[in-house]
Amino acid sequence: MNGSRDERRLTGLHYKSRAPIEVRIDNGLITEIRPLPVQKAQELPYIAPGLTDLQVNGFQGIDFNRPGLSDADIEALVRALWAQGVTALCPTVITNDYERMRSALVAIHKACERSELVRQAVAGIHLEGPFISMEEGPVGAHPVEYVSAPDETLLQSFQEAAGGLIKLLTLSPEWSGAPAFIRQCVKKGLLVSIGHTAATSEQIQEAVQAGTTLSTHLGNATHQMLPRHPNYIWEQLAQDKLTASVIADGFHLPDSVLKIIFRVKRQKAILVSDSTVLAGMPPGAYESPVGGKVVLTEEGKLHIAGKPKVLAGSAQSLLWGVQHLLRQEIVPLPQAWDMASLYPNRLLKRPQKAGLQAGAPADLVLFRYNDPTLALLETYKAGECVWQG
Ligand SMILES: [Zn+2]
Repeated sequence: MNGSRDERRLTGLHYKSRAPIEVRIDNGLITEIRPLPVQKAQELPYIAPGLTDLQVNGFQGIDFNRPGLSDADIEALVRALWAQGVTALCPTVITNDYERMRSALVAIHKACERSELVRQAVAGIHLEGPFISMEEGPVGAHPVEYVSAPDETLLQSFQEAAGGLIKLLTLSPEWSGAPAFIRQCVKKGLLVSIGHTAATSEQIQEAVQAGTTLSTHLGNATHQMLPRHPNYIWEQLAQDKLTASVIADGFHLPDSVLKIIFRVKRQKAILVSDSTVLAGMPPGAYESPVGGKVVLTEEGKLHIAGKPKVLAGSAQSLLWGVQHLLRQEIVPLPQAWDMASLYPNRLLKRPQKAGLQAGAPADLVLFRYNDPTLALLETYKAGECVWQG
């Protein structure tokens, strides 16, 4: 009665405790969480913080790396991700012709300036490359001709194009001068991540000392064959200051590897989708900007046509990753969900890191959970219902 017109109350089961709660929302923020009597618990959906994806190259036909993206394209992508429970994302721009990279960055920056919807959704831009490894395997699908040694002037030109929105930089510390470059980046407020790397253990240790805090899709974009030890996977696993991001779609890493990474990294493991333009599309044969002729299978795997073992990127959302972990019983719901919501926000130091707490932004989702199946019901952004299933 006396509340502002934005006031709203949601009831559900807390995704961790499974206790019935009422979440009170005002002005886009959670104002209070009250326990509810237990009798109606069976009928209630689960309530949880919205998912945050640190690595989105594209989704449902829209590609952040394609020049000439309109604000409407980017808005459509944000809406498509709401339907997957994703309330924040890092648009990811990868190694390419530098002019093309800058134009992609400009498009994202301009959309953030002009569209409230996009601005609220973008947690910062992830620049993946071009300061990565040139070696086959580690370079992955990045065009090697545009890979470069760390270059502050070049990075500055990207940051200017992005209007300062680049928050996360994936690089390989195998280049000489990498530690000094990393220090500069950290000083400017960038989160530096190791990825697409052929670095030695010493180079990884130096990168961590210089302020690197993350590994990008650990275990992917590697050589086909590695020395049993030492190698860059063991070293990154062993570095306690490194959070590990992983693609948990069930195709990029075997379940045993996922399980081991989660056991080792605990609260420093996070899920990313690394979704491409073909993610969220129906199964079929497609022409991909990365990989040419590709096939998206009924099971959700995206591979090069005629080569089912060669992946052509990820075709799934972050929610799929959470669902995969539950279905395979790799981790329980609270941990799977935190790895895709609280932990990425903690890394980015966003207020959403507080999760279901008074004072936190009301970026929330409601879902049914019949172990192990999740069915998304509603997505809320800053207290507003933005998607309903
Ligand atoms: Zn990558």
